[in-house]
Amino acid sequence: MAARNEVKPLPNLPNYVFGEKLGAGSYGTVYKAKLITTSQSQVNSAACARANFYAIKCINRKSLTKSTQDLLINEIKLLKLIKHENIVEMYDFQWDENYIYIVMEYCAGGDMSMFIRSRQQLSEARARPFVQQIARVLKFLYEKRISHMDLKPENILLTSTDRPILKVADFGVAQHIGKRGSRSIRGTLLYMAPEILSSNPYDNRVDLWSIGIILYECLFGRPPFVFSCVDELVEEIKSSIPIEAREYIFEMI
Ligand code: ADP
Ligand code: MG
Repeated sequence: MAARNEVKPLPNLPNYVFGEKLGAGSYGTVYKAKLITTSQSQVNSAACARANFYAIKCINRKSLTKSTQDLLINEIKLLKLIKHENIVEMYDFQWDENYIYIVMEYCAGGDMSMFIRSRQQLSEARARPFVQQIARVLKFLYEKRISHMDLKPENILLTSTDRPILKVADFGVAQHIGKRGSRSIRGTLLYMAPEILSSNPYDNRVDLWSIGIILYECLFGRPPFVFSCVDELVEEIKSSIPIEAREYIFEMI
């Protein structure tokens, strides 16, 4: 009974004022926050000291299982390692007794799924630079032998809604793939390459498949597969029948 009445502690990080909730994913809640002082002990980057707003991913330590803790360590390690103009920058990470905090650059345009939903369908002219920017990230990751493994509109952020720069986020399930490939099943089924669902090793090209699904969703407003249960979706993904284009209504830009 006591547990039911237990008040969940709110995230709290010295020197930051927490604002609106930006989103919630599989293991964290992301808030917009404003830095109120810029003491060197709190700010590890010159870029961080310049900006006003931040996105802080807060992970409740009590909710962490061994596997979500591993995802978190994975994400922090990778974000420390990779710096690219189209990858969301991690400035800092901290923790207290209740939460782990990942302080990131704030992307004011929300994520790509919100952007597509608000416009229903994007024109080819709008979708082209989006795909180019994600492809640049893929080339960069490829050179480092890293696969993102969860490319999807919710994990691609926009700096603004007017002429946005894209920032790939959420490296929770990213992995190094060596010459022998990987067999681990990870990511989001709707965007998952068929080779991940086979029992054979796959390589970094799985991210390319996800870009294809994302491009389809940009142009037609929803992913290409029609299904009523998970098994049907798996069959659709593995099927060799070519994906058909839907009716294409032009977005005016
Ligand atoms: P999870 O690993 O739990 O899926 P994400 O890192 O994908 O968490 O973040 C969840 C959501 O929060 C995203 O889909 C996006 O809408 C929002 N979000 C995440 N990071 C930022 C950011 N840096 N700026 C703005 N919104 C963000
Ligand atoms: Mg996510």
